[in-house]
Amino acid sequence: MTRRLECTLSTPMAVIGKDILHAAELLRANHLVAIPTETVYGLAANALDSKAVLKIYEAKGRPQFNPLIVHVKSAHEMKKYADVPPLVERLAAKFSPGPLTYVVRKKKIIPDIVTAGGESVALRVPAHPMARQLLEELDFPLAAPSANPSGTISPVSAAHVADGLGDKLEYILDGGVSTLGLESTVVAIEDDTILILRLGATTPEMLAPFAGVKIQTHTATGTGSPGRLKSHYAPKTRLVAGDIRTLLEVHRAERVAVLILWDLPRAPNIVAAEVLSAKRDLTEAAHNLFSAMRRLDSVGADIILAERMPEEGFGFAINDRLERASAT
Ligand code: AMP
Ligand code: MG
Repeated sequence: MTRRLECTLSTPMAVIGKDILHAAELLRANHLVAIPTETVYGLAANALDSKAVLKIYEAKGRPQFNPLIVHVKSAHEMKKYADVPPLVERLAAKFSPGPLTYVVRKKKIIPDIVTAGGESVALRVPAHPMARQLLEELDFPLAAPSANPSGTISPVSAAHVADGLGDKLEYILDGGVSTLGLESTVVAIEDDTILILRLGATTPEMLAPFAGVKIQTHTATGTGSPGRLKSHYAPKTRLVAGDIRTLLEVHRAERVAVLILWDLPRAPNIVAAEVLSAKRDLTEAAHNLFSAMRRLDSVGADIILAERMPEEGFGFAINDRLERASAT
């Protein structure tokens, strides 16, 4: 094992593989490992070790005021790291493992760097089988934001991770394409209300049976949940979102790439197009979103025109990502 470790570390580009034990070994030695989850790939380090966590911020170029999600092996384990209110327990019984992250009051064991100095920590139990097996191997939880340079499109495959951060980490654990393809929903409990700090793969409709649901609208300064910075998930090509026919009219003199749900419009200036779901299924659209954005970003168009999704199910979260991809 030791020899293998040295061999990996001498390589400038990350190794992509499926070796969970090797990933565990590297994490125990305080290295960074990209891990597959059902939402997007995470850039993981030992959440209980400040030095390891610092490497995450450095590799991503992430501002240190933006705290990290800590991935734990079970809902029960959350109690080791935070005070878990009854409403969170009820939510966890239904949604964990899965794409729901709880912001709860941290215990001392969680270093300040993980929470950007705050008193609350964000906890999630991932559902991807390889992430779960990896956590079973470890006696510490994993701090893991999305495995992309800060501000860019989130990765949903090992190749996407290698593209953005390949020279900044040791190993990419390859668990295939993320099934959901959209980040987790981040919630906090405010009195008896579920406050959605970030829209994601657990929809407001799914949460509504448990308590009142309030969606925190983000502010221009991105305060509140720090990850709600306006500009995020952004392709290099300028992107605008709205009604696709109106956008095509406005941008008729430019070479445009279009991102639409299903109904492909015709126009001579369209140089590339991505249909997110031919059957108009918003779950499928979410799964395809980030890969489609990457492909459109590479065609050299003047601008990407993105259709706003219907406001239901995953539509809210997709629109949130489109809005933030369009912020400058
Ligand atoms: P990322 O892992 O990069 O997809 O982003 C993690 C998200 O969780 C961001 O929106 C963070 O602001 C949010 N988050 C993480 N920790 C906390 C926390 N302690 N309080 C509020 N939001 C948090
Ligand atoms: Mg991110």
